[in-house]
Amino acid sequence: MPIDPRLPYDENNIFAKILRGEIPCKKVYEDDHALAFHDINPQAPVHVLVIPKGAYVSWDDFTLKASDGEIAGFTRAIGTVTRELELDQPGYRLMVNMGGHGHQEVPHLHVHIFGGRQFRVMIGD
Ligand code: AMP
Repeated sequence: MPIDPRLPYDENNIFAKILRGEIPCKKVYEDDHALAFHDINPQAPVHVLVIPKGAYVSWDDFTLKASDGEIAGFTRAIGTVTRELELDQPGYRLMVNMGGHGHQEVPHLHVHIFGGRQFRVMIGD
């Protein structure tokens, strides 16, 4: 069920709990701005999620309210993760689902990193 991205940030969403260490994750990378961990239901040989440390519901919320430093730090962290996973040479795909049409299910911004195989189709249902 997609979220309503207009709702206020829910401190009890699953990624907030991961950030607080209340539930475990398979951590890939962490710095001041971002945490990256393996998706629990991988859709590709490599499927990693990168989330900002700040409380942002969605891509829309983040790009509206985050500081330039948070945006730069988060964006750079995604690049660092892809290089640490050695995806920069074969290539990879990034995806952000936003709101209803984007079918976003977790109300804390997350960027999906997909890699480890050749992708061809741009988008599916
Ligand atoms: P989205 O549809 O973009 O909101 O994607 C949410 C993603 O979060 C899905 O790919 C889920 O498999 C993933 N997910 C949900 N719960 C967890 C969890 N506890 N640890 C890792 N990934 C999760």
